[in-house]
Amino acid sequence: MNRKTFLQTSAALAGSSLLPASVLATGKKKKPIRLAHLTDIHVKPGQVPEAGMTKALHHVQQLKNPVDFIVNGGDAIMDSLEADRQQTQVQWDLFKNLLRKENSLPVYHTIGNHDVWGWFIKGEKPAGDPLYGKVWAVETLEMKNRYYSFSRENWHFIVLDSTQLNPAGGYIARLDEEQLNWLQEELKSVPARRFICIISHIPILSICAGLFFNKTEANGDLLVKRNLMHTDFLALKKLFRQYPSIKACISGHIHLQEEIEYLGIRYYCNGAVSGNWWKGTFQEFDPAYAIMEFFDDGSSKRTMVKYQAN
Ligand SMILES: [Zn+2]
Repeated sequence: MNRKTFLQTSAALAGSSLLPASVLATGKKKKPIRLAHLTDIHVKPGQVPEAGMTKALHHVQQLKNPVDFIVNGGDAIMDSLEADRQQTQVQWDLFKNLLRKENSLPVYHTIGNHDVWGWFIKGEKPAGDPLYGKVWAVETLEMKNRYYSFSRENWHFIVLDSTQLNPAGGYIARLDEEQLNWLQEELKSVPARRFICIISHIPILSICAGLFFNKTEANGDLLVKRNLMHTDFLALKKLFRQYPSIKACISGHIHLQEEIEYLGIRYYCNGAVSGNWWKGTFQEFDPAYAIMEFFDDGSSKRTMVKYQAN
């Protein structure tokens, strides 16, 4: 080897040592970010829900190929929308205790509609209570805010709060103005080379939202109700079009499972840990959680895991 070739080879080797070990070893792309998305756990006092949540957490932690962290997709508890203070306290205590005792992985939380306290209590609402609405969930789950973001390697995760009080009754899936403004600024601030995954409890885009009631309307319509899919989808689609680095959206809420690829984004609706609210299978779907993998080329992969089967 002449000196020039030696220097070139050395330089190439020195350069290659900057590559991650996994790339050097396999020549393939880097190890993906792996997370377990556990959504719609709906825990409440009782043998089946308590054992079910425990089993799901144990299953995640015993995976041969471990995950880096857990995302709680929302609806952690059965319901606090209609529950009084004491019933709500019991459910949150249960969720927190099981998580503390049975899990050692980091957890990022999402607020689901059933995690909101008191909006639909019969009679007088505890609107003056400092824990009213989303405060109880945010404080109990020690969330930075009801919506927030975090980064892992070259992916940026944005966690949204889908559930808003609907002036015409019930709740509606959309971002409020404050949150939309924040999201617009947040998207501007993420470097273009970093891929983005958006996490919401209610799907931003979903056909399962139209299948939830398992029926066609009398007039032939397949109905997507305002509380089953983001009603601001068209506005969000327009916003997302400005950011090609948005590659994936993950959600729960529907208890059905789907993957949709639309305009360069994969929308995953990831079923429910509680299946049919702890009464077995919901339509065709067993209780399950999702393992999500995020690769360094912007692609992602979902594997649904029926944790009760083994
Ligand atoms: Zn929900």
